[in-house]
Amino acid sequence: MNAPEFFDAPDRSTTAEALAKEFRDVFGVGPAGVWSAPGRVNLIGEHVDYTGGLCLPLALPHRTFVALRPRTDGVVHVRSLQEAGGQVDVDLSSVGAGSPTGWAAYVAGVPWALQQRGLAGEVLSGGFDAVVDGHVPYGSGLSSSAALECAVAIALGELAGAPLDDAGRAALAGACQLAENVVAGAATGGMDQAASLRCHEGGAILLDTDDDSVTQVALDLAGAGLALLVVDTRAEHSHAGGEYGKRRADVERAAQLLGVPNLRGVDPAGLDEALDRVGAEPDGEVLRRRVRHAVTEIDRVRRTAQLLQAGKASRIGDLLDASHDSLRDDYEVSCRELDLTVDVARAEGALGARMTGGGFGGSAIALVPADRVGAVADAVAAAFAAQALAAPRFLTALPAEGAGRDL
Ligand code: ADP
Ligand code: MG
Repeated sequence: MNAPEFFDAPDRSTTAEALAKEFRDVFGVGPAGVWSAPGRVNLIGEHVDYTGGLCLPLALPHRTFVALRPRTDGVVHVRSLQEAGGQVDVDLSSVGAGSPTGWAAYVAGVPWALQQRGLAGEVLSGGFDAVVDGHVPYGSGLSSSAALECAVAIALGELAGAPLDDAGRAALAGACQLAENVVAGAATGGMDQAASLRCHEGGAILLDTDDDSVTQVALDLAGAGLALLVVDTRAEHSHAGGEYGKRRADVERAAQLLGVPNLRGVDPAGLDEALDRVGAEPDGEVLRRRVRHAVTEIDRVRRTAQLLQAGKASRIGDLLDASHDSLRDDYEVSCRELDLTVDVARAEGALGARMTGGGFGGSAIALVPADRVGAVADAVAAAFAAQALAAPRFLTALPAEGAGRDL
């Protein structure tokens, strides 16, 4: 078996400079600037960002860059170094629900959403030329889609003179989510965009999706002798796909039955009673499991944040394990590759392990003693090879800085 493949993030300023040069080569003039936004990994709090829950994501060093220059004719010309099809041209007046299709939705959807939210200036309605270079792998549950949207949003926001403090970033994040939901047509919650725009180096954010507030939580894993290993299983995942939408519909229906705006409104102490109530429905068994996941998961996030704030990172492992088991058994969004990764990581000495992101493939995380990173990665890679699965990829997540300007 070959050594496990680790993929590191490229140097930020070198990548930004190379992209500025690329822009000049393509458009014959330099960009107004280069901006970038990170992918993210969620420590805990999964599938609760669309029901008012709490989550605890951190930004990855892996970023998506955009070199951009405003235009005045209302057209977007954009290329991506990751897309072989060449330049895509989009007239901003044609952007709306489901249009444009394909990857350009994540770019052209952003000025549209900023305008919908009243965050638009002249700069935004004029269109722009842009070249994109992404270093967040697609479809790995690490949110390449939000990284792309947020890189465009921070560029346009800054050029339009929008405030870029945390409140300003929260507004941009909301617009990016709108672009993803309406233009790209993926019914995701707001965690990915908030993480990409509002995280800071060295910490995670405790995001309350009920009121959009954020608490910075320091995450000094190295200081605790730990590392966060991310395993990209390379298994197919699809967010826009039906299962994600079905889960969302399940929790919305359950909240309606319980007479609360969202499942954040169910107190953990009242869980049994809530389960009895939804259990009386014809599809009560499924609803019971969905509600139990959401309510217990939100409570686990609260407890994880408290442990981290008390400097007890080495004690969050059981909460990570319980999160995975709940996502696998009650929420039913895991898959064979994710379960295998989690089982092997635990057996090899991880303090805790869980799937992260939307599920049905994508990535898992394992909290491991720093000196066990190699051994855990070896064991996971060997287990995949033994089952004839495609080789997984690995990265160790160090909490990085949110979206910003590079050049
Ligand atoms: P995830 O966000 O988990 O990576 P998604 O399916 O939500 O997966 O988003 C992936 C999609 O985002 C890609 O298929 C592509 O359309 C778009 N995308 C992400 N990064 C880039 C990029 N660098 N260039 C062009 N499109 C991108
Ligand atoms: Mg995504």
